Formats: sequence, structure tokens, C-alpha cells
Amino acid sequence: MAADMLAGRTIPRVTANRAPRSIVYGDGPNNASAPPLNAFVAFDANKSWVLVHAQDAALLEHERLHLRIGEYIATKVALNLPADMTGNGVANAATRQQAQKDAADVAIKDFHKKRKAFIDNVWEPIDKRVQKGCYDDETEHGTIPEQQAKWAREWQAYVDDELQKQGWKVR
Ligand SMILES: [Zn+2]
Repeated sequence: MAADMLAGRTIPRVTANRAPRSIVYGDGPNNASAPPLNAFVAFDANKSWVLVHAQDAALLEHERLHLRIGEYIATKVALNLPADMTGNGVANAATRQQAQKDAADVAIKDFHKKRKAFIDNVWEPIDKRVQKGCYDDETEHGTIPEQQAKWAREWQAYVDDELQKQGWKVR
């Protein structure tokens, strides 16, 4: 239903002036020049579907809360990024300029690899755990009205609780 994405625009920073050139790229405590990563949730209408006979207001509310929960979890990503979320690159080349460029390429690849690992191994499993293991299981996909109403009222506390159980900081 929702695709998670982690978008980061970061500026490579040169950390050594002699060859081999080393570039730190990404967002991390040692890289003050990198702007923060932005985490957001996107709703993909093309991958969303519903059985025609099941289309009703209650189901829509159930699905809306999935999105709200996903968006909320995304706001907690910045708090929970690993400290080493930087890309490192070292390169040797005939000229300083070329070495810098090559090192930046390596650093960017390294950064994207770490970012993907974070999304695949940390963020998505936690999102899935909250959405399916908690919200869907406890409301039977929204078919238990009392449970759905309870989630509608208290979802943030439930989500915080589960995030903390999974080792995430929520504030
Ligand atoms: Zn659901």
C-alpha cells in the first residue's frame, strides 16, 4: 500500500588532501557539511486495490490509518539512523581532481548501499511489524469495530510502544 523511501541529497566532503583521496559522503556526526536525510512515505495508487464489494467507509478509515501510521514511523527515522550512515570512498588517480571524482563515486555507492540496508533490514521490518503484526492483527484488518475504534483513538501510543520494543527511540 505504501512505499517507503529515504531520500537524501548529500554533498561529498573531502577529508584528505593527499592521495589517496578520501571522501565522506552522507549524513553522520563527523560530516557537518551533509544536509539531513529526509524520510517520507508515498502512497502508490497503482499498487493499491480493493474488492468492489468490500469498498466502504470503514475500510477506507482502516486504510487511512495505515498511511498515517506509516507517515508517523517515517518521522521517527531521523532519530534512529545509525551513526555510521556515511559513505566512504578512497581512490588513487593520476590527478588530484580525478582521484577526488573517483573517491566521490565510491563514497556515493557506499552511502546508497548503507541506505538500502537500513531501509530493507531496519525500517521496513519495523513498519511491517507495526502495520501487520499489531494494527492488522489486533483489528482483524479493521473488521472488529471496537478494536478499530480503539486504534483510531490510541494508535500513536500503540505505535510508540511497539517502536520502543523494537529498540527505536520515539523522542
Ligand atoms: Zn490493514
